Amino acid sequence: MSARDTVEGGIWKRVGLGTTTSIWKDHWIPNNPNGQSTTPIPANADEQKVEELISNFRWNKSVIFRRFNKEDAENIVKIPISLSRTGDQHFWIHIEERRKEVGVRGDSGSSYDDSNTQIWRTLWGLNIKHKIKLFIWRCITNTLTARETIFRRTKQGSPCCLRCGDKIETVEHILFHCAQAQKVWKLAPVQWDGIQTQTGCFMQWWAALTQARSRKEGKQHLALTANILWQLWKDRNELEFEGKEKDGIKVVQKASIEWMEFEEAGTGKEARSTSETDAADARQREEGMEVRDLVELHTATQKATEGHKMGIGVVAKLNGTRIIADWVLVDRTSQLAIQDEAAAVRLALIKVWQLGWHRIKVINANHHLIAMLKSGKGDNPNTVTLVDDILALANLFQMCFFEVGKNSNMSLCQSISRYALSIVLDEERIFVSS
Ligand SMILES: [Zn+2]
Repeated sequence: MSARDTVEGGIWKRVGLGTTTSIWKDHWIPNNPNGQSTTPIPANADEQKVEELISNFRWNKSVIFRRFNKEDAENIVKIPISLSRTGDQHFWIHIEERRKEVGVRGDSGSSYDDSNTQIWRTLWGLNIKHKIKLFIWRCITNTLTARETIFRRTKQGSPCCLRCGDKIETVEHILFHCAQAQKVWKLAPVQWDGIQTQTGCFMQWWAALTQARSRKEGKQHLALTANILWQLWKDRNELEFEGKEKDGIKVVQKASIEWMEFEEAGTGKEARSTSETDAADARQREEGMEVRDLVELHTATQKATEGHKMGIGVVAKLNGTRIIADWVLVDRTSQLAIQDEAAAVRLALIKVWQLGWHRIKVINANHHLIAMLKSGKGDNPNTVTLVDDILALANLFQMCFFEVGKNSNMSLCQSISRYALSIVLDEERIFVSS
């Protein structure tokens, strides 16, 4: 009897980017009885993949609620989408134990998963300004706002590029396909042959670049490339908001000069012997915080008594005393406390990473969640995705650990999470200079 036969529940799928998960054939909806959709199957069902339901790491709710019955749709949008892993994975369901275990292999090849974690690590390790890392991270996760995004969300203004007129302005257009970008890349001192075909999707393009980091001077080339992308974005914003037009060669020069200055600063006589950790310390000191400072990150969630709204409260305390930032965030509840709490921790870590803080203690009142984070194991496909993401994010920090919080110490973030239910847009307050 093979190992597979002993698994009564059969093989399910955990969705990454959804590229290899079939909407109608696979078992991929954890809250549905057998993991399959209960919506009547359409005629041309064979080729439809879950990726059609995802855009920019979010479920496309209007499509989902149109294509599925209400119950299916509700259960689908409860599935967290992984930020750090993109391959769909198999896992087994043990019916008798009602316990789900993660399977053994990534469907689209685990090397792709590994390379994905590698993207984060490589980006973090580059010798570039923190704000440029953040910018690249926003390109990768498609969270920059180009005209197309604004138009799609608000139906205001024009989705077309100001420079080219008739082309839709996406992030890829600004950075690769716009007349200005084409000119800049022709003049640029770094060339990436053979990956032009990937410029339709920034994340894929950057992933291909990351693979090349091991080439001679690969890291420097990546750092210079990041500087060029950053200057292209600044150049676009100058035209968009100030009406200033710059020659392409100026963009290249500015990127090259800033890159060289930063390279020299990072490899000077003292810094030559310093480790990456010390460099991170130096940057943190520049940003007005002491090296040994530890940021306590308290998070709490509250779901609305009716409907799907969830409020998230996040409080950051310096060395456990002075409050240095807080966030009031609104999201959609999964109806499961542990999953909501995990989603809040993930979001809070992203916020803190964006600020460039390096030493983090995550505090949450949910014992079960903290135990999962310490062991690195989720107990169902949804928590597995969230735990993976949180640990991938935690890896980006110099230090990041998890602790159970006493309810008595969590009252501020708990009341912020209740307040969050009354607001529509996220609020953020930061009390340290950065
Ligand atoms: Zn253009």
